Amino acid sequence: MSTTIAPNLVAAVSEARQWDRLMQLAKIGAIPGDGVNRPCLSPEDREARRLFIGWGEAIGLTASIDQLGNLFLRHEGTDLTAAPVLSGSHMDSQPKGGRFDGIYGVIAALEAVQALREAGITTKRPIEVVGWTNEEGGRFAPGCMGSMAYAGFAPPDTWDDIRDNAGIAWADALREHLAAEADITRRPLGVVEGPAPFAYVEAHIEQGPILEQRDTDIGVVTGIQGSRWFSVEIHGRSDHAGTCPVGMRQDAMQDAIRAITALNALMHDPTDVLRFTVARMEVFPNASNSVADLVRFSIDFRHPDNAVLQARGNAIEGVIAASLRHCSYKLFERFHAVPAVFDPLVVDAVQRAAASQGLSHMRIPSGAFHDSQFMIPLCPSGMIFIPCRGGVSHNPAEYASPEHCAAGARVLAQVLAELANT
Ligand SMILES: [Zn+2]
Repeated sequence: MSTTIAPNLVAAVSEARQWDRLMQLAKIGAIPGDGVNRPCLSPEDREARRLFIGWGEAIGLTASIDQLGNLFLRHEGTDLTAAPVLSGSHMDSQPKGGRFDGIYGVIAALEAVQALREAGITTKRPIEVVGWTNEEGGRFAPGCMGSMAYAGFAPPDTWDDIRDNAGIAWADALREHLAAEADITRRPLGVVEGPAPFAYVEAHIEQGPILEQRDTDIGVVTGIQGSRWFSVEIHGRSDHAGTCPVGMRQDAMQDAIRAITALNALMHDPTDVLRFTVARMEVFPNASNSVADLVRFSIDFRHPDNAVLQARGNAIEGVIAASLRHCSYKLFERFHAVPAVFDPLVVDAVQRAAASQGLSHMRIPSGAFHDSQFMIPLCPSGMIFIPCRGGVSHNPAEYASPEHCAAGARVLAQVLAELANT
């Protein structure tokens, strides 16, 4: 396989154009502190998608969406029957998200395809720039619904009854969204209704501190640690905070605290590789003078070693059960993804491209999960990481420099050129 740099291709990637697009998108759903709140299937999400489609159509790409709202911009190849190379990420954000998570990979893929076209490089295979629906799971949990449905990992109606904080059902939000995008060509749903892609490449900010700490331009991503998400309900009884003796209560709040304390002990890891997070809690009736009769909290547990992921994850229920004094519990596993390993076809292509462009690079596993893990069973897949300041992500302060954003797009352009001519 060729390792030559295509100088005109690398030169055609425009740092200024890409940065301008990122900053235009950052205005949609902008929140104080340079952040973005762009929940999936919201009016802001739709506005961002329209802007993105406009940029794609202006350079001759063809837009289409599937029944999950996954959005594709297609660059045609010379072989009309060849399986496409897919590249993109997601356009939705966390409620207090940043300007780069997800959207960078979508814009970098568009920039890479635009550079290919402007450099006059034809590809045998088509290249499809994809924006996956609901990667974040911030409004409707779990995340990665679009890529999971595309990959046939879960039937497309799996999440119909999931509700956001306003009580809106996923099925209704999706129906409304598809109606608003009825003018965009509908396409079959991924491998459920169509052929598999040839390869998948996703560019993303690292969302961690390693690349910056090591002053490295490009992360050659080797895989993704596994994730298991749970929701826990602690059921007690509401009583008057002034009249009911503490010893007679079934206090859901106190038992929730015991459960979380016991889980912290279960998840303790002296090597600090394990990630355990309780970050969402709902208390009912949520009144300061009433003992809580229901507490619902989330668990986000991740580890790169599947043995640890399974053993500790499976121990969660027993630990909760043993920790409660007065209440009952319900445990729901919302999401379960085993650690994923990327394919050498893509990983090596990323490394070659970075090396041939003189960029510093290192192999690195992903701490966050991504749509790419659902592509692994379908086709050779991989990711390109760029550094982000302080490793900060899921935070308005999230920042990646224009230079690093451009370097990632240049590597991506070379990888796409190579894969789409394979
Ligand atoms: Zn992301």
